[in-house]
Amino acid sequence: MVWKKEGTLVMWLPENHSHNIKTVSIASFDLDSTLITTKSGRVFAKSAEDWMWWSSCIPLQLRNLFLQEQKIVVIFTNQKGCADYVKLSIFQKKINSILATIGSDIPIYVFAATADDWYRKPSTQMWKRMNEILNTQQHGQTFSIDINSSFYVGDAAGRHAKWDNNQKTKADFSCSDRQFARSLGIQFYTPEEYFLKIQTLDSKLWSWPDSLKMFLSPPSPSSTSSSTVERDIQIIKDRNKPCLIICVGMSASGKTTYVLEHFPSFVYVNQDTLKTKKKCLSVAKAALDSGQSVVIDNTNPSSAIRSEYIELIGKQSSIESFCLCFDTPLHICLALNRFRASTSNGERDRVSTIAYNIFKKKFEKPTLKEGFTTIISIPMVFKWKTTEEQKMFEQFIQ
Ligand SMILES: [Mg+2]
Repeated sequence: MVWKKEGTLVMWLPENHSHNIKTVSIASFDLDSTLITTKSGRVFAKSAEDWMWWSSCIPLQLRNLFLQEQKIVVIFTNQKGCADYVKLSIFQKKINSILATIGSDIPIYVFAATADDWYRKPSTQMWKRMNEILNTQQHGQTFSIDINSSFYVGDAAGRHAKWDNNQKTKADFSCSDRQFARSLGIQFYTPEEYFLKIQTLDSKLWSWPDSLKMFLSPPSPSSTSSSTVERDIQIIKDRNKPCLIICVGMSASGKTTYVLEHFPSFVYVNQDTLKTKKKCLSVAKAALDSGQSVVIDNTNPSSAIRSEYIELIGKQSSIESFCLCFDTPLHICLALNRFRASTSNGERDRVSTIAYNIFKKKFEKPTLKEGFTTIISIPMVFKWKTTEEQKMFEQFIQ
């Protein structure tokens, strides 16, 4: 039995045991607030000993799943707090003691996502990795997972406050466990439904995140506002004089995709590629001086930052400046940020939460007083190449 680490994914893989069957079903569980809770009553365990079963029936139920129902028992857990060595070893010690309590004759797989990345639920990458590992353990003989009899149990189920009629019950902190099962197409249960056999929760008492609802029932694409935007953008494109476009928007709000598609002939200025603001300003100035149009594809949150670019245009100049605002909601930007980092084969790093906080802190809504001819709000439009791509993106919505 070994602990294995692949980048940010930490795994406990029990000894090779043959399944002897071509089709297996997976009984999978979240860890915290599903299988266990803290003894101390704290949200996060203070030590490796600070745990107790969420319900006393759990160890026997897990044993029966393997011994009587021949299911493979797997734990999928988000453990962002375990990024450092000390916290990780506490976590591993805790898992060792949990598994020992269940019994060493029960092989239980554990997958822990220790960063806010590719592996973190609701992304299904941990499941994908499990599938690969189970197949490798079969010595090259492939088997398939029976989706219909597999299931996942978790407490992050999007339940509203007081869902159980208890005035003290708080809303679930997220819906990521339910989303995880949805993306996999397997049955989902809350711990109460699965272990305590309480009735399946009425769908009025929980909901998908607003950001996901957007995709479950997409709005009609041709709204009036988007046609107004198209008209305004066309006016800029049709001018045959040089101009300056300044983008304003958080990371992963859709700026780059939009401006490269609509203004391919503009000189493109971006601090990620040019490295310093000084370089951005000098490239922009040289282009404007030589009569070229320029687009500044930075986050440009404050009027002070934007004014540095507007000032490049001399007072007497006839060059106009336009502001494109990408007001994409934060949760969509964060999902796109994770999606982008995860699907770029390591070419793009995930933008840090700090960068988002700085944007929020510095943000000043652009006004015409700053010198813009027009300010245009660009609505987020998703153009997926395939439905698989869209499904992949949905996994990153939290
Ligand atoms: Mg949990």
